[in-house]
Amino acid sequence: MSEPTDDPPQADQAPGGLLRARDIIAQGRVVVLAGAGLLRCAGIQPPEAPGGLWDRHDPLRCAVPAALDQTPRDAWRAFGEYLSEARRASRRIGGPSAAHRALWSLERRGLLRGVMSLSTAGLVRASGVEQVAEFFGAIDRLRCRDCRVKLDAPDDAERRWLAGEPPRCHACGGRLRPDMVLFEEAMPRVPRARGAQWAYGARTLLILGANVRKPPMRNIPLEVRQEGGHVVALGDVDAAMLKRVRGLWIKGDLNDTLPSLIAEL
Ligand SMILES: [Zn+2]
Repeated sequence: MSEPTDDPPQADQAPGGLLRARDIIAQGRVVVLAGAGLLRCAGIQPPEAPGGLWDRHDPLRCAVPAALDQTPRDAWRAFGEYLSEARRASRRIGGPSAAHRALWSLERRGLLRGVMSLSTAGLVRASGVEQVAEFFGAIDRLRCRDCRVKLDAPDDAERRWLAGEPPRCHACGGRLRPDMVLFEEAMPRVPRARGAQWAYGARTLLILGANVRKPPMRNIPLEVRQEGGHVVALGDVDAAMLKRVRGLWIKGDLNDTLPSLIAEL
């Protein structure tokens, strides 16, 4: 596959690129922006991608707020399928993937401020990383539409949801919904604020297979760069953005590159 000639430096093609990235990461104060590429590491197709959840289920009957009232059985069946995929990956021995395990290791070594996760599968949290801001919520969390209580999806959730059975709130008997952003909904403010806090004063922004063409994510690399930080990207990312911030790009499979980046720190 040919690449545009104005690509930023690619560490996997430039001798010493991986070493340079390793030196930068070793300085700590790393904030991670994780996207679809990290989810794919765990063998899950992002819901919006071809072959993903919203390709297999009609979003208008499952993934918009109105569907919760108009076509609840369809919606909960789709949620059940997604929860089932996510739980299968999170129960895997050793974590959802080698890349997830490497992220956990980065935090254990005290080098990581936090992970801004753009995925709704909840796998970064499931892999044991403590500082996670899920920008779009997660499928394994529920909230009550009536009393607003939040809770984890119960153990029998997959079976019930797959049967098209909408769960009820244990506190008020009201209507529950997944605590994740559906189409036509805004991104919640709390995770964004946490992410902004980590990004401020970060030494390095490590982008893992994340598309940052849309606001507010689009601004994060620029902000980190303007404040004197580095940008290192692994996997598929927006080449034009990376060029703007003169980021270091290590291509290849995240399940290989992230563990090898972290192995010798
Ligand atoms: Zn309730």
